[in-house]
Amino acid sequence: ETLINQIAAGEVVERPASVVKELVENALDAGAHRIEIELQDGGTRLIRVRDDGGGIPADELPLAIQRHATSKIASLEDLEAVGTLGFRGEALPSIASVSRFSLGSLHRDATHGAELVVDGGRVGEVVPKAHPRGTTVEVRDLFFNTPARRKFLRAERTELGHIEEWLRSLALARPDIELRLSHNGKPSRRYRGEANDAGLFAQGRLQETLGAEFLAHALHMEHEAGGITVSGWIADPTYNRASADQQYVYVNGRSIRDRTIAHGVKQAYADVLYHGRQPAYVLFLTLDPRRVDVNVHPAKHEVRFRDSRLIHDAVYHAVAATLAEARA
Ligand code: ADP
Ligand code: MG
Repeated sequence: ETLINQIAAGEVVERPASVVKELVENALDAGAHRIEIELQDGGTRLIRVRDDGGGIPADELPLAIQRHATSKIASLEDLEAVGTLGFRGEALPSIASVSRFSLGSLHRDATHGAELVVDGGRVGEVVPKAHPRGTTVEVRDLFFNTPARRKFLRAERTELGHIEEWLRSLALARPDIELRLSHNGKPSRRYRGEANDAGLFAQGRLQETLGAEFLAHALHMEHEAGGITVSGWIADPTYNRASADQQYVYVNGRSIRDRTIAHGVKQAYADVLYHGRQPAYVLFLTLDPRRVDVNVHPAKHEVRFRDSRLIHDAVYHAVAATLAEARA
């Protein structure tokens, strides 16, 4: 069982940033509003994620670290319409098999907290432990028992950079969530939670993530065609800090990378503005989940569209219309 989990970990857990991603997504699935991430040595020594979500009942702690025991997929149909971020039920068992792991929680209906420790896959007993409402996951010494993988960890700065970048992309999508990151005891990022006004993007969050300069040049975008909604922000052509690392794309709330979409934006820039500079944008696509396959890659950075031509055109038109309107 530990070996199976370690093998699965090879797919789910690439580096500290993938651990942070899985833990934070679990916190979001649990309805958290505030999430705090503490790191030591770029996350290689410690990753601690605390949330104020619904928590886990003491007797269900062992289930949470059991492979597939908690998978939210009951049928193939579910797989097509995954609403939650986690759905494979293998993140925690995988992470716990390659680290010194602990899971502490106080469920919303419970009066006493509890904790479960797993050491390199060896599961301990559930013990009582004081805990505020919500959940804390600690991951120490990632890959300590899989030296071949540990070898692939990069310098502290590099691993921290990956975590900060992932957090920024989350912060853009979830302005309603307060997120804090600290590294080696020092605060490193703080995104204040804000009321998400009717699904509209909070401007304050845009400033916190991409800076005042981006906000000053941001054109709001909102476009619907054929059941595909394209919304978000693109920088006007006078924004001169645009670079490939200020390109954020979300499909039904999930951060993804996709060539078709990137091409649609770039094409619109070229056609309307007659230049091929790197555009900067934050783009949210919303469509029927059955029209997109999120199950292409375990790390879920990629998706497959049923009709990618339509997606391309929807993005193209949204961006072109927004740019043309701003120019008029
Ligand atoms: P998945 O998210 O795919 O269901 P995970 O291995 O990531 O699988 O998590 C296993 C289960 O543990 C979740 O389904 C959830 O029931 C529980 N869990 C994990 N993290 C939290 C959390 N922060 N708050 C509440 N429950 C959690
Ligand atoms: Mg999960």
